[in-house]
Amino acid sequence: MPVRKVGKNCYQWGNQKVYCGTDAKRKAILQGIAIENTGWKEAENEIDVKTNHYSFVLPAEFDENNEAFYLVSGYLLISTDKEGKWRVWDLDKGEWRGWNWIDSPFYKAYQKKYPLTPPHYFQFDTLQDAEKHTSKVALTRLKNVIKWIEGDEDSLHGSDIALSLISKGKRSALRMKMDSKEKEMARHPNRSQRWIPDRLRKELSNELRKQMVCPTCGEAVFPSLLAAQRHHFYCEKYGKQPSNYLFMTPLELLMFDFVKTKKEAESFQTPIIFISGIALLLGMALPYFLDSRADKV
Ligand SMILES: [Zn+2]
Repeated sequence: MPVRKVGKNCYQWGNQKVYCGTDAKRKAILQGIAIENTGWKEAENEIDVKTNHYSFVLPAEFDENNEAFYLVSGYLLISTDKEGKWRVWDLDKGEWRGWNWIDSPFYKAYQKKYPLTPPHYFQFDTLQDAEKHTSKVALTRLKNVIKWIEGDEDSLHGSDIALSLISKGKRSALRMKMDSKEKEMARHPNRSQRWIPDRLRKELSNELRKQMVCPTCGEAVFPSLLAAQRHHFYCEKYGKQPSNYLFMTPLELLMFDFVKTKKEAESFQTPIIFISGIALLLGMALPYFLDSRADKV
């Protein structure tokens, strides 16, 4: 179902609420993701949860009359641009994920067909190509995070991975913390605008090692700081993260309420009954969740 422009600065998903103003397109698409992923028409309430974890930007390059959005792992959004090509937008980092990346399954094949310049290296010919590339991005990101967590605290490679976990805005904020000597080093012609001194990168890496860990369940492997914060929020509130990583479905909410009530009621009885109760519930609910990882939106 497409997001339509229905007036100056106004957007609507299907026949849902019309959003107007600076943030309208993002809100309309968010509502679309929530509705299509959950079947929940009142998704608007869930979008407006009092967290800022949904404050992502959407690029203007996406076609306003997109036929479809596909959400992968809760942070990689696939859709078409105005030329009809498929693109992959990283919601958490605010960047395109192009095939100009040596580990992309299309790095070699696309170079034979297209120039290695923007916007070409952000564009995929088919949805299948974009999906295959996106799966590789998601998998590699998680592998890197595990490597970083298990690695040496002072490793510079580790601090590179840590840097990849934060948004552009946070990166700029980090650059503001450079001292006068580092500022001078940053002006060296061989250094790019994005250069961040080793000291600050290591500092960030050590900070993130603490910040990423879920205070409720202890999980530490997330594709980004924002993804970690979303998990922390849901884990504290419901004891579990939504299966689409963004919104609780009505069925999930019902299930968690049921398990919670059951837990309280049975806390004096044998735990085996409680565990089998959860297993039964999960078994029943599983088919509904299976396809929600890369749902068509
Ligand atoms: Zn947790």
